[in-house]
Amino acid sequence: MAGRPFLFVPGPTNVPDRILRAMHRAQLDHRSSAFPTLTRSVLDRLPKVFGLTGGECFVFACSGTGIWEAALTNSISTGDKLLAVRFGQFSTLFVNYARAMGYEVDVIDAPWGDTIPVDKLEAALVADKAHEYKGVLTVHNETATGVTADIGLVRAALDRAKHPALLFVDGISSIGSLEFKADEWGVDFAIAGSQKGFMMPAGLGIVAVSAKARPFVDNAKSARAYFDMRPMRVQNAAGSFPYTPALSHLFGLEEALNMMEEEGLPNVYARHHYLASGARAAIHAWGLKLCAVRPELYSNTVSAVMTPEGHDAAKTIDIAFRRYELSLGAGLGELGGRAFRIGHLGDLNPLMLAGALSGVEMALNDSGIPVELGKGVGAAMTYWRDNASKV
Ligand code: PLP
Repeated sequence: MAGRPFLFVPGPTNVPDRILRAMHRAQLDHRSSAFPTLTRSVLDRLPKVFGLTGGECFVFACSGTGIWEAALTNSISTGDKLLAVRFGQFSTLFVNYARAMGYEVDVIDAPWGDTIPVDKLEAALVADKAHEYKGVLTVHNETATGVTADIGLVRAALDRAKHPALLFVDGISSIGSLEFKADEWGVDFAIAGSQKGFMMPAGLGIVAVSAKARPFVDNAKSARAYFDMRPMRVQNAAGSFPYTPALSHLFGLEEALNMMEEEGLPNVYARHHYLASGARAAIHAWGLKLCAVRPELYSNTVSAVMTPEGHDAAKTIDIAFRRYELSLGAGLGELGGRAFRIGHLGDLNPLMLAGALSGVEMALNDSGIPVELGKGVGAAMTYWRDNASKV
């Protein structure tokens, strides 16, 4: 089909032409005297996106999942205990990976569509008198359910319990799109990937590490090699890497940071709220339900939409893709076949999203879920017109 395909999964997201152009260039010698300028330009500006001062950011060539491993092996010793909250597919996978790495993980479960049960978390921390939990694993934005958790409440629970555990926050589908406050929330390891809010192709994992976590990085006893932050820190200080960095991606990341700075981070967050609100107006107008159970949980980067009983969401997704070149996110885990997801993050504006919502309307009808054509898109347009002055 002619024209650009519509990519509305919640990552990878649309890569702006500016970033593509920045990446499309001759390679540099990463041992040359010119290279440190690029490294430092990226590493010095990244912490702001995480709301971090005083700590340090690391960039590894991997997807976001690799940073789960990087964060844990660099701070927790094999066999140590962790406490995790599971409220969707990605928080479930975080637990599975931690266990696969040899950590003992106690889990607090919440129904999918709901958020972190902070009271239960606090009770578990209070009960841990011996401070056996060395870390708490959480996800800021559950991409599977379209729920944004309040990490400030998690920090408050840790503080009330006077528990010293390190706080790990997966912000893979939030950082760069939703405000993230690593300092204020006392996040020790904030985890991001390049292919979502950073508007890049997949391939870089990024982690922001608090100053408090530094001695843990120095002393943790877990097997670590590729992801070892100690040689990375030494080399990064001089503007280099212990091994060949993903050069094209670093050029792209530098341009992504330029774009974020030009727009201004508060404007980036406001734009995501504005776009998401339009998408939600459409979903409500279709008479469909979000997986997120309360409005205050609604994610501004992804909406997980439940299909009516008896309708296979996979069919709607496939029709959208085959007939209209619109990619929607699949229902994951227990939401398989019951939900589709609309990603509304990254390099995006209302008209792009209106196009996607039109495609959803057609695919819903084609797959046997009748909605009045134009009703959802109309509701989104009304929202965007009424609120245009707010962005
Ligand atoms: N965590 C969250 C919240 C995610 O949304 C994703 C991917 O969508 C991941 C982890 C896995 O990241 P990656 O696919 O970059 O390894």
